Amino acid sequence: MTVIFALIALALGIAAGLVVLLVGELRWEARNRLPKCTTCGEQHHRHAAR
Ligand SMILES: [Zn+2]
Repeated sequence: MTVIFALIALALGIAAGLVVLLVGELRWEARNRLPKCTTCGEQHHRHAAR
């Protein structure tokens, strides 16, 4: 029983870690895909750098 419990705990830990990584990556991607322009306030890529 102890082995099964350890395996379940390990699986839960791995699943939690994967979820955290997935959520973080999705947030990062969404932020990168829709950059909010600080010049005009719309969502698009940057204006030409000066
Ligand atoms: Zn702009």
